[in-house]
Order: sequence, then structure tokens, then C-alpha cells
Amino acid sequence: MPAEAFDEVDWDAIRLTLTGKPKMYNQWYSKQCSGWCGTGKNLKHWKRTDDARCPNCNTLEEDAGHLMVCRSQDRSRLLEEHVVAIDEWMKSHFTEPLLQQLVTQYFRGRGTRKFRKLDGHSYKTASLAEAQDKIGWRHFTEGKIALRFRVIQRYFLQHSDTRLTVDSWLKGFVSKLLAMTHAQWIFRCITKHHRTKGTIVLKATEDLLQEVERQLSMG
Ligand SMILES: [Zn+2]
Repeated sequence: MPAEAFDEVDWDAIRLTLTGKPKMYNQWYSKQCSGWCGTGKNLKHWKRTDDARCPNCNTLEEDAGHLMVCRSQDRSRLLEEHVVAIDEWMKSHFTEPLLQQLVTQYFRGRGTRKFRKLDGHSYKTASLAEAQDKIGWRHFTEGKIALRFRVIQRYFLQHSDTRLTVDSWLKGFVSKLLAMTHAQWIFRCITKHHRTKGTIVLKATEDLLQEVERQLSMG
């Protein structure tokens, strides 16, 4: 991450979120962020496989950056489920409405749309968009949100009929972001396992999604 983007990130929000998570979860998180997770490309490099393709879309040399841009149908469906859930969470947790609307659009762009190119910006969100674009899509999905989220949300919460603090909001939001990304990883690992074993096909997608949820609930 470039130095100018580094200073735009709300690192406290990430710390707050990770503190409450199990050790295994923290391990997954640091591997994903550093790029040293068991992707096809790394496994091939470590000589643990000769198949470096993404198990879901067959992209060659699957790396950590591919996790949140994979266009396989199943992975897209899983992502959309999370987008809908995060949108609902934002609605029920006093999220500034414009922010909610922009974030949901940003998710659906999956890195192909810059934050500042989304529809409906106002003077309130211009500097947030600029900062978030410096940080970028992949880092966003790894919980690195611009500091302006805190400023906009704090103001909105103070003027809403709630006792929710901005720290609680940030912790909830970043947790949801990470859960979305973690779900993609779990799904990918389950499908990879099935393919490696040669068990023809995965069970129906429904079963698979349930398995993902089960693993997620274990943390
Ligand atoms: Zn893929």
C-alpha cells in the first residue's frame, strides 16, 4: 500500500474488530493481507500442487488479490448474499443514508468502479471517496476503510435517536466486511478440496453455502 494511502486508513477500526476474534481468524486475516495464503500460485511455488488455477473460475495463477474479484457464478452469488446482508445491517444500525447507498454500489462494482465514480455523491462524501480510492478495492474488502467513515458516522449517530457509538458502528461494519471476504475464502477452500480429491462435483450449491455458513459460525 502506498504511504499516502496508509495514512488514510482507519487502523483503529481494524484493531477494534480483530481484538474480539479467535486466533485462527486473525491468522487467516494476516495471511490474506500479506498475500501468503494458500492460493494456487503460492501452493505451486511451495511445490504442494502443480495446479495453480482458481478452483471456481479457472483463472491461472490464483493469488490473494483474486479472492474478491473472482467472477465465478457461485462466488458471485455468495458475494451478493453478503452485500444484501451488509446493506440490511447498515440500515438497522443508523448508517448515514448516502454512505450506505454508496457502499452498496461500491460492493457491486467489485473493484471495477472507483468510489468517486459512484452515483449520488455530495460534498459530504467527496473526500471520503478520494481517500477510499487511494486505499483501493482489495484493501477495502480487507477492512481498510477511510478515516472519513468515522467522521461522517459520528456526526450522524450524534444526531440520531440511538446510543450506538461510532466505535461500535465501525467494529460492526468492519466485521461484516471481513466476514464477506472470509466467506469467499472458505467457499474457495471447500471447492478446491473437492476438486483435488477428484470427487466429481460438489454437492448442490445450497449445501455448499450452508457449509460456508457453518464454518463461519465457528469463527
Ligand atoms: Zn476465480
